Amino acid sequence: MRILRSPQALHNVLAVRVRRNKRVGFVPTMGYLHEGHLSLVRRSVRENDVTVASIFVNPLQFGPAEDLSRYPRSFRRDAALLKRAGADLLFAPGAKALYPDGFQTTVTVGELTKGLCGRTRPTHFAGVATVVSKLLNIVGPCRVYLGQKDYQQFKVIERLIADLDIPARAVLCPIVREKDGLAMSSRNVFLSPTERREALVLSRALSEGARAIRAGARSARAVRKVMLETLKKAGTGRPDYAEIVDARTLRPMVKLQSGMEVLLATAVCFPKARLIDNRTLKVTT
Ligand code: AMP
Repeated sequence: MRILRSPQALHNVLAVRVRRNKRVGFVPTMGYLHEGHLSLVRRSVRENDVTVASIFVNPLQFGPAEDLSRYPRSFRRDAALLKRAGADLLFAPGAKALYPDGFQTTVTVGELTKGLCGRTRPTHFAGVATVVSKLLNIVGPCRVYLGQKDYQQFKVIERLIADLDIPARAVLCPIVREKDGLAMSSRNVFLSPTERREALVLSRALSEGARAIRAGARSARAVRKVMLETLKKAGTGRPDYAEIVDARTLRPMVKLQSGMEVLLATAVCFPKARLIDNRTLKVTT
């Protein structure tokens, strides 16, 4: 696996491969890798000729009061894991390589970024959309592999790919969980043992919401209430949101209608980590 630090270096290597008509799969990450990230890499390796992974802790997507400076990092371990998972190239630029002096362009996506995490993180998705647009231009993949863990991010990237005519397809990959149901996240390392136990409310609230829908609940407000009741049991964790939205548009819902695909989504702020989780569900009669 080759490690490349600048867009130009990556371009030079990939230009040769693309000229030979290789399919390129791409897995963007912020590092501190776990099985969730590696499941995306393995899928890309299965479905493409060349897999590029990136590690870049993107300053643009962190708010002023967020955890950019203490975001966990473990580059050597990450590189070894990526190599073992079969990645061919690791693109790991420094901030200056992507945002040199004079940089002043931002990509913003509209309505999809307003609700859910966008409400408490108003600048986050513009940071994501800007860096992912740049990475897609630099890598030029046929497919980009993204986790359902960040479902809103997936929808935003899918949208920008369509709107900016980028010739890549966004592939949604399932959430990888710990044995007890907690969605894997680089930020789980910030939880104390007590918070780690309390964090199970995120996935439990989703199960409670899904159970209410299967039992016949059709009012979105009633389902939100069920989920919020569970989130409130977090103790140290402060519930940020418990939402049910149209899985296609992320629009808030009032009444659930049969045949609709809905997204149940939860977020809880612990003292040192804000955690999110979600699941999709088809409403049946
Ligand atoms: P991050 O390093 O947090 O920016 O995540 C990089 C990619 O890995 C994103 O597409 C995430 O959605 C995905 N990802 C993170 N956690 C998981 C997980 N538990 N299961 C599957 N994919 C994940």
